[in-house]
Amino acid sequence: KQSCGREIGSRILVFVRLRPMGKKEREAGSRCCVRIVNQRDVYLTEFASENDYLRLKRLRGRHFTFDASFPDSTSQQEVYSTTTAELVEAVLQGRNGSVFCYGATGAGKTYTMLGTVENPGVMVLAIKDLFTKIRQRSCDGNHVVHLSYLEVYNETVRDLLSPGRPLVLREDKQVMVEYRVKDASNNVVNRVGKLSLIDLAGSERALATDQRTLRSLEGANINKSLLALSSCINALVEGKKHIPYRNSKLTQLLKDSLGGACNTVMIANISPSNLSFGETQNTLHWADRAKEI
Ligand code: ADP
Ligand code: MG
Repeated sequence: KQSCGREIGSRILVFVRLRPMGKKEREAGSRCCVRIVNQRDVYLTEFASENDYLRLKRLRGRHFTFDASFPDSTSQQEVYSTTTAELVEAVLQGRNGSVFCYGATGAGKTYTMLGTVENPGVMVLAIKDLFTKIRQRSCDGNHVVHLSYLEVYNETVRDLLSPGRPLVLREDKQVMVEYRVKDASNNVVNRVGKLSLIDLAGSERALATDQRTLRSLEGANINKSLLALSSCINALVEGKKHIPYRNSKLTQLLKDSLGGACNTVMIANISPSNLSFGETQNTLHWADRAKEI
């Protein structure tokens, strides 16, 4: 059995990132309904300028705590350092890591993963870090780096590095790092680590006429992915022989990460606007559940 930073059976690390209020949301007169306190606690309230945290605390079911919660002022670098930097280190040790973003359309998943030219996201920072660290290593030998950045949308997987037709899932290569090191007795050892970065896409690109049908379909599929993830982890924890990876595209993608060294990070993205209250509540609820798996 492989060892990992967090032992098998330990839960997924769950983070929440609040994005700033958008121009359109401001113009629509929306108010902020989310407040993040102490880098961990998230309060959801329908009232705008609520400053009374003691009162907020009494709002049952509207208070959540995560491994870290990022207020809207958090930089991309900070999000990367807190959520993913450790996984990059693990990948270089020959272990596997997965990061996936989850949340409603427009909540900031793609911004978090990809970012912009001025503010590159987790994926770009991870790749940069990976190459810097590989370069710093004194060991010679070839480094082969396989990269992939995938999106799971309504049970369809797309390669975001070469958009086009959906991917047929294969068991090999996603982000993968392979390198040779010499062990104590000078034998060459191959090490392979893999980093999977996954954007659980919302419906922004879909051209469905009935948004309501689309949304419930999307919700159902996201839930399906998370439920499948949950049952895989439970099965792993219980030491079962059969792990139901095939139940969803997400778990097929995460197979190596879950089965080998369990270094999985979930970043739940939320909007501050009261117009997205329902979606935010839903996302926080799911993120809260993910802490238990
Ligand atoms: P999603 O991928 O979840 O549908 P996006 O990442 O496309 O959402 O974000 C929606 C909009 O909000 C985009 O215009 C994006 O640039 C902006 N945005 C999201 N998160 C942030 C952030 N942390 N800081 C600044 N702008 C953000
Ligand atoms: Mg997106």
